[in-house]
Amino acid sequence: MTAPNWLYENFDTAGSAIGFRVNKTLDEVQSPFQKIEIFESTDWGNVMLIDGAMMVTTRDNFLYHEMMSHPALFTHANPKTVVIIGGGDCGTLREVLRHPGVEKAVQCDIDEQVTRMAEKYFPELCESNGDARAEILFDDGIAYMANCAPNSVDVVIVDSTDPVGPAEGLFNKAFFESCHRALKDDGILVQQSESPLVLLDLIKAMRAEMGKAGFTSFQTLPFPQPCYPTGWWSCTLARKGQGFEFREADARAKAFETLYYTADIHKGAQSLPPFVAKALGEG
Ligand code: SAM
Repeated sequence: MTAPNWLYENFDTAGSAIGFRVNKTLDEVQSPFQKIEIFESTDWGNVMLIDGAMMVTTRDNFLYHEMMSHPALFTHANPKTVVIIGGGDCGTLREVLRHPGVEKAVQCDIDEQVTRMAEKYFPELCESNGDARAEILFDDGIAYMANCAPNSVDVVIVDSTDPVGPAEGLFNKAFFESCHRALKDDGILVQQSESPLVLLDLIKAMRAEMGKAGFTSFQTLPFPQPCYPTGWWSCTLARKGQGFEFREADARAKAFETLYYTADIHKGAQSLPPFVAKALGEG
């Protein structure tokens, strides 16, 4: 690729696209599951694509990794055991391990090549991989959750690709039943739930499938994520009955640095825009 050039992801569902000016292709690999490409951009650091979809940039991944972990972990009364399904770039694992009360964090991604590429091109995201509390597995998250011991997990984080290909089975009742069974009674499931601007129907469908699996309370939290379609993303939390009051004092007193997440950001995200609240039956 001759510099400078532009790399685009077309998002056909929304008739939109995102582009980054890039200097060169750094690496690519076709794994048994997906094609992983890494580019060096002029202004956003390294960029990872999986099957042509933007996954991670050096510049903006903190928004996603912080919002996929801290709201759920500060909502749980005392999270000790955390399971991350997907998350192969290891950024979510790093955020989870910032919580000193967490005693074990298992990351199960289907594709080892994602982690190997992250180790080379996003080493900052992998800086906690050697933590004694971390266990990094390479397996299908569907199987992992199906075999997970009942009533054994405090928080399940599903940091997956879009609901196509290997991730398709991470958005249905059967998978959510596995999560429900693995979670303790006060446990929390949190899943990346795509764009609230153009994929509200998907969020509604996810929450309906979670409901069929036995979850009874839901909370969708929007947040900015420039490299993803529409630049506005979300995570959806599900519980077995409890609400979503979070440990605000603990969040305010947190001993670790974040670039985006704060207690006020958390509170703000809980106040859904009217069109989203209405669509999700909360308005
Ligand atoms: N932030 C990204 C997003 O919101 O699209 C997700 C990043 S992470 C790299 C997505 C990961 O999900 C990939 O590493 C992929 O290998 C993993 N994945 C997809 N299907 C999976 C499955 N069935 N079990 C475990 N991991 C899976």
